[in-house]
Amino acid sequence: MATMATTTVSVFTLGGTISARGGGSSPRLTGAEVLAAAGAVPPGVEVEVHDVRRLPSSSLTFEDVADLAGRVDAATAEGHGVVVVQGTDTLEETAFLLDLACARRAPVVVTGAMRRPDLPGADGPANLAAAVAVAADPGCADLGVVAVLADEIHAARHVRKAHTTSVAAFASPGAGPLGRVVEGRPRILLRPAGPPADRPLNLRGAARVALVTLTLGDRGELLEGVEERFDGLVVAAFGAGHVPTWLVDPLAALAARMPVVLASRTGAGPLLSETYRGPGSEHDMLGRGLLPAGPLDAPKARLLLHALLADGADHARVADAFRASNG
Ligand code: ASP
Repeated sequence: MATMATTTVSVFTLGGTISARGGGSSPRLTGAEVLAAAGAVPPGVEVEVHDVRRLPSSSLTFEDVADLAGRVDAATAEGHGVVVVQGTDTLEETAFLLDLACARRAPVVVTGAMRRPDLPGADGPANLAAAVAVAADPGCADLGVVAVLADEIHAARHVRKAHTTSVAAFASPGAGPLGRVVEGRPRILLRPAGPPADRPLNLRGAARVALVTLTLGDRGELLEGVEERFDGLVVAAFGAGHVPTWLVDPLAALAARMPVVLASRTGAGPLLSETYRGPGSEHDMLGRGLLPAGPLDAPKARLLLHALLADGADHARVADAFRASNG
């Protein structure tokens, strides 16, 4: 009788609501306990659990993600699929950083939960079971890092936490999900375009990138001191990439000294490049040396700039990467 080949999935846990115990808010359950609640793993799949951190995801750092990326690469080098279990607050950021930093050898999935394990309708077990199913499927290896929650499969570069409490909190507003988990198996509907930068990028270098969100009547006080304290800046501008006329010169001056990326604060849709042409328009600011975030939202643009600078990229390489991400 032929024996079924076994796929190994390495599960790395970082904490979050999925591992909160009782009424407490801090993550306490071990990965093995979280996995036990997810029920039986699919036939032919073996799961290895590694507790890496037990933190609320708001307290994760670049060093934590760089360490995680090393563990993920070591697991995929062994041919394992990977699931990262963490809090949902920064899940999209971890997923995108892993997408930039890890080799694409096997599926890498990030998941979490919106409801604690002790609440009615806790979503952690179902999310983890769906994530393991995706991580075990070699057909998902070329998707890049994905987030799997509420049975939806989202590309790291598009996914956002779009609601504070809903169990359907995760969405890809600029693109839609890549697929769904149906009857315990991934069904892929779309495959993402090529990676947003030449990768893998090494996250271990030092880099400080500021993100400043513009608001009505903004006088630019938060831009003061950026040059001394940061290596790069992302401006979450109005609409399709617009800034107040009085910030044109200060931003252009900063862009002459460090990479300054123009992104939109809206959270969905591409940055424009030539529709509006007056002072402070996207055409004006890109002409003055700001770099276009393209389809990346402002937090993701910050992570791409961080990863490029941490990897030692010079201005030309940074500019090429952002121009390429415009597709
Ligand atoms: N505060 C939690 C965290 O991000 C929220 C969650 O896991 O959903 O760690």
